[in-house]
Amino acid sequence: MSEFDTKLIHGKKQNDNTTGAVNIPIYNSSTYIFPKVDAKVRWDYARSGNPTRAYLEDQLAQLEGGYQGFAFASGLSAIHAVLSIFSPGDHIIIGDTVYGGTFRLINQFFKKWQLEFTAVDTQDLEQVKNAVKTNTKAIYFETFSNPLLRVTSVREVAKIAQKNNLLTIVDNTFLTPYLQQPLKLGADIVVHSATKYLGGHSDVVAGIVVAKKQELAERIYFNQNGIGAVLSPESSNLIRRGIQTLAVRLDRHLSNTAKIVEFLQGRDEIKSIYYPGIPGTKDYQVASLETSGYGGIVSFELQNGLDTTKFVESLNLIQLAVSLGAVESLIELPYKMTHAEMSEDEQREIGITSQLIRLSVGIESPNDLINDLKQGLDLLNYQKEV
Ligand SMILES: *Cc1c(COP(=O)(O)O)cnc(C)c1O
Repeated sequence: MSEFDTKLIHGKKQNDNTTGAVNIPIYNSSTYIFPKVDAKVRWDYARSGNPTRAYLEDQLAQLEGGYQGFAFASGLSAIHAVLSIFSPGDHIIIGDTVYGGTFRLINQFFKKWQLEFTAVDTQDLEQVKNAVKTNTKAIYFETFSNPLLRVTSVREVAKIAQKNNLLTIVDNTFLTPYLQQPLKLGADIVVHSATKYLGGHSDVVAGIVVAKKQELAERIYFNQNGIGAVLSPESSNLIRRGIQTLAVRLDRHLSNTAKIVEFLQGRDEIKSIYYPGIPGTKDYQVASLETSGYGGIVSFELQNGLDTTKFVESLNLIQLAVSLGAVESLIELPYKMTHAEMSEDEQREIGITSQLIRLSVGIESPNDLINDLKQGLDLLNYQKEV
């Protein structure tokens, strides 16, 4: 058995390649020949299965430690296919800080189909326990919350789920299987926006699901094929290629982020820093036990009175954009950008203020990133009160 970093490079062979090419080809064929009318062919139609996509799906199943993987046209279509395994009247507990698009899918789409949801702070296990009802079927959450990077214990939530016969579904976008494998901590289904770290280059939108067991995999396959939001062969190839450098990219994301956190800690303009890698918090404790790194996203607040818009617009190297997890550094203001759909009250409740900034740290030279942040902070002319 090879180690994780080797598996990133060498996926499960499809044995469909007679040329000796070291990579799986991009199979641009929507349909496949039947040698005989009643032949049992492995491939018949590309929505149902495509060898390039299948390579990626097997690769993710292997990396997450699951039974089967599925690739979708976006993270949200992956989540849609997963939530579509439930039936009208089923109740699902969800993390109250899940990705905004997930929240919209739940509140403005699935509610129409009589799925019931209760949003809770999944860090607080009592809230999770108290939300379980007789018709509850699943708990859905993100290990690291967005944008405040609060950490939920997959192991503890999965224990509650198992006791109550519920499925545990984890959105592993922020950590990737390199830093956490939720299925090994007790989860049943993992989802990803592969648009982020798995692709890693801001050039493709994609989603992944991995199911731990065959029975669940069959239900998800039915939805993948039946609803049909499959990932194209070209995009499957881009995610496959991204995954090959996942370990080296993340190692650099992690070391750059640690250096930036250290820099921010030394600046008076910074009021608070949200990063699970800073010792002394419950988030740090849980992350230390259940992940092998604290991720490449850091959020921080400027002191009251300092203009966050001016700061982010003054950066030269770090680009002002939503999304995250790619080789280039991206910065944004959650209250105006990623979380603008929330009301001011809702934002305040989960700790999003006009002073909060989210930074997705890329893999550029850490010195250049720090110098860019430094010149931006210097422009604010902050005088520490004495
Ligand atoms: C971006 C994101 C999604 C949605 O994925 P898309 O690929 O944009 O559809 C879901 N969950 C998390 C945590 C994300 O960051």
